Amino acid sequence: MSSANSDSDHHLNQLLKLKEFQPSGRGTWADVAEADWEDWRWQLKNRVSSLEGLQSRIPDLTPQEIEGARLADTKLAMAITPHFFNLIDGNDPDCPIRRQMLPSVQETETAPWEMGDPCGEDSHSPVPGLVHRYPDRVLFLVTDRCAAYCRYCTRSRLVSNALGYDFRPNFKEQIEYIRRTPAVRDVLLSGGDALLLSDSKLRQLLTELRSIPHVEFIRIGSRIPIFLPQRITPELCAVLKEFHPLFISVHANHPRELTTEVRDGLARLADAGIPLGNQSVLLKGVNDDAVVMKALVQKLLMCRVRPLYIYQCDLINGSAHLRTSVRRGLEIMEQLRGHTTGYAVPQYVIDAPGGGGKVPVNPNYVLSHNADRVVIRNFEGKVFEYPEAPDGTPLHSPPDTIEEPELV
Ligand code: SF4
Repeated sequence: MSSANSDSDHHLNQLLKLKEFQPSGRGTWADVAEADWEDWRWQLKNRVSSLEGLQSRIPDLTPQEIEGARLADTKLAMAITPHFFNLIDGNDPDCPIRRQMLPSVQETETAPWEMGDPCGEDSHSPVPGLVHRYPDRVLFLVTDRCAAYCRYCTRSRLVSNALGYDFRPNFKEQIEYIRRTPAVRDVLLSGGDALLLSDSKLRQLLTELRSIPHVEFIRIGSRIPIFLPQRITPELCAVLKEFHPLFISVHANHPRELTTEVRDGLARLADAGIPLGNQSVLLKGVNDDAVVMKALVQKLLMCRVRPLYIYQCDLINGSAHLRTSVRRGLEIMEQLRGHTTGYAVPQYVIDAPGGGGKVPVNPNYVLSHNADRVVIRNFEGKVFEYPEAPDGTPLHSPPDTIEEPELV
């Protein structure tokens, strides 16, 4: 067998292995009753949120993790649902799930270009809890709580309240702003995580928003289907279904996060008619690898989720150890576009530091744009020409080179 063949077999095997659906398992919670395990409130109450809790489940924490867990509450709280915790490989300090969730003392190292509010949300906030940065849509922050906390969180200035932000959303004021701003046709509920609200609170909020005639479209951004699939109950799906068109953007970064429980929860949402998208953050040692990213996006499609964005990690304070280069992100995009289903290819974006909004960044497929042609390359590097007149209108082909098709 040639080495090219064995490389591609190895690649394929790696991909297939990453794409297998596995249950999260019970791990160190083997004795817990089934009814408790399946209860999302039990999962929340039993999150791993202290150094002692971590050490009792992962005896070989690294010194950086131990110190990080001691400091966590002064930056961003640590909390990991039992469901998600079981995806951590306790024997591998480089485990991609572990890197996202376990605090590290490296979070205390900040660079001058890092920020507490890298997307400039606070400066685009007309009333507390509402960010109006784009012309026709607003970000509606519902809570400062999440089911679990991601160490690279863009909103770590406020989520979990470790920094004393004292976030107090005022739904009445937020809704009033939207009501008196007819340009707003799209409302994104986020936080924190909006799906932490009870079903009745969520219904109340969605009813208010739907009563505003110019709100055409509601989105919920949530990592709960991944952290806490038990929350995706038939009752919750029934509530959400009342408020179409309603879309949900989930947030998965690594194919291992897509367990059988997560796949089933996503299927319940999809069956309720909710279009699902995914937003990933490009993270060093987590998903900055083309095989991992390809497995993630393909597995998302199997869960009926359209990969929407890959975000370059924001310049949040203390995140250098989790960030990877834009060049790496572009290389990964090269390995996706044309190499897999178009539906599986997300848009790579940088949220412009300081509040410029999402800027798409793409590998360059246009090699030159001359007076009479655009020179392009395809995903295999083959070069093609597309004729175009200097004013941008299509060129008419010379009659002696193109034969008119025969009409029948
Ligand atoms: S779930 Fe979202 S808001 Fe919550 S910590 Fe993670 S990235 Fe931040």
